[in-house]
Amino acid sequence: MKDDNTAANIVAAISKCEIAPTAVVTECLEKIRNGRLNNFISVCADQALAEAEAIEQRVKDGKLHADKKLLGVPIAVKDNICTAGVKTTCASRLLNGFVPDGDAEVVARLKRAGAIVIGKTNMDEFAFGSSNEYSAYGGVHNVRDNNRVAGGSSGGSANAVAANEAVLALGTDTGGSVRQPAAFCGVVGLKPTYGAIDRRGVIGLCPSMEQVGMLARTCDDALLLFSVASGREDLRELDGNVRGVTVGVAKEFFQAEKSDGVAKAFNNAVRALKALGVNIVEVSVPSFFAGLPAYHVLSSAEAASNFRKVIKAYPQAELLGDEVKRRMLTGAVVTDGKNYDDIYVKAARVRTVITAEYDEALSCCDALLCPTAATVATPIGGITDPHEEHACDSYLAPVSLAGLPAVSVPFGSEFGLPIGMQIMGKRNAERNILNIGKALTNAVE
Ligand code: GLN
Repeated sequence: MKDDNTAANIVAAISKCEIAPTAVVTECLEKIRNGRLNNFISVCADQALAEAEAIEQRVKDGKLHADKKLLGVPIAVKDNICTAGVKTTCASRLLNGFVPDGDAEVVARLKRAGAIVIGKTNMDEFAFGSSNEYSAYGGVHNVRDNNRVAGGSSGGSANAVAANEAVLALGTDTGGSVRQPAAFCGVVGLKPTYGAIDRRGVIGLCPSMEQVGMLARTCDDALLLFSVASGREDLRELDGNVRGVTVGVAKEFFQAEKSDGVAKAFNNAVRALKALGVNIVEVSVPSFFAGLPAYHVLSSAEAASNFRKVIKAYPQAELLGDEVKRRMLTGAVVTDGKNYDDIYVKAARVRTVITAEYDEALSCCDALLCPTAATVATPIGGITDPHEEHACDSYLAPVSLAGLPAVSVPFGSEFGLPIGMQIMGKRNAERNILNIGKALTNAVE
C-alpha cells in the first residue's frame, strides 16, 4: 500500500515551505465538492482556509516549530464529536442546530498539534448502525462503488479518507464503528484500548465500550494520529518487521460466517504473515458466538439509560429515527423487571467470560487475526432486516466487550471491493498491532 499523500509527508513538505497549507486544504475541499459522496454533514471551508493561511504565514515567518506533528493536515471529524462553533448533530434531527461552545478534548489536542478540521462527517444516527443508512442526512456512497454503502457508523469518516477528501479522520467505535467502515472503504481503522483517548466532548451513548478511533490511509498515519490523540508521544515509528512475532487464530474465526472472498483473504493473510516470519498458533475463544448478542443487550441498556437525559432535554422523541427507537426499546426491555437478571445480568456475565477468554488467548501470542467483516460493502438498500445488519458485527463486538485495541487493515478484495483484516492486541499494544498491519498491507504488493 503506497501513499505519498500521507500526513507525515504533508507535514514535512509544509514545514519546508514545499507546499502551501492552503493548497492542501483547497484540494480536499474540491474533492468534497466534486465527490458527491455525502460524506460530510458540515464542511468548514472558510475556517479551514483561514487556519491554513495563518499557518502559511507563520511558516514563512519561521515561527512554527517542528513539534507540530499534524501541521496543516486536514482532518475530518465524526459528527458526534463536539467542535467549537460548528454544529454537531450526531446525524439526528433531534440535535439539528446544536452548536457546541467548545471542542472535544481530542479535537483540541489535534488542533494544538496543527491539524485543520475540514468538516464534520456523516454517520448513523447517534452511532447506531453498520451502513450509514440510518442518518437523517441520507446515506453515504462508497467511493469504490457508488451503489454500495460505506459501512457505519463512522461511514463518512472512512469514506472521506478513502476518497482523499481528508488526510485523516476521527470516528468512534463502540462495537465496530471505526473498523467495519474502514474495511468497506479500504482504509486503516484503529479502535484503541478502552480508555486510551479522552472522551470529554464526545456525545456517546455506551460509556463502557465507546472509544474515539482513527481512520487513515496507512498504518503509519494511524499511529501518528493515535499518538497525538492519546498524548502517547513516546511511540516508536513502525518498521513493519514481524519476524518472530506470534499471531493467534481462533478456530471460531474459521467457523464464523463469511463470504468466499473473505474466507480466501483470511487464509491468504495467515499465509502472508507466515511468509514474513510470523509464528501462527491456533487458539480458542469458545464464547465468541455469544459476543454479538451480549454486546447488543449491554449497549442497548447503556444507551437507553444514557438517553433518558437527552430525551429530557429534547422532549421531541418523534424526531428520532427507527433504529435509535429500536435500541431504546431493547434497552428498556432487557433491564425491565425479571429480564434484568435473565437477560441483562446474563449478558454482563458473558462479557466477563469473553474478556477472560481473549486474555487467555493473548497470553500465548502477541496478537489475534480474523476478518473485520463477513462480507465486502453491501448494496445500498440491500439489507432491510435489522437483525441481518446486526449480524455483520460478529467479528467486532467481542473485542469491544473486552476493551482490547484492534485495527482493520485492507487486505485482498472480492467483486473489486476491499476486504479488511482485523488484528487484535493486548491492552495498550496499539503500536504492535499497527506494525503487524503495516507488514500485512505491504505483503499485498
Ligand atoms: N454496528 C454497531 C452497532 O450498530 C456498532 C456501533 C458503534 O460502534 N457505534 O451497534
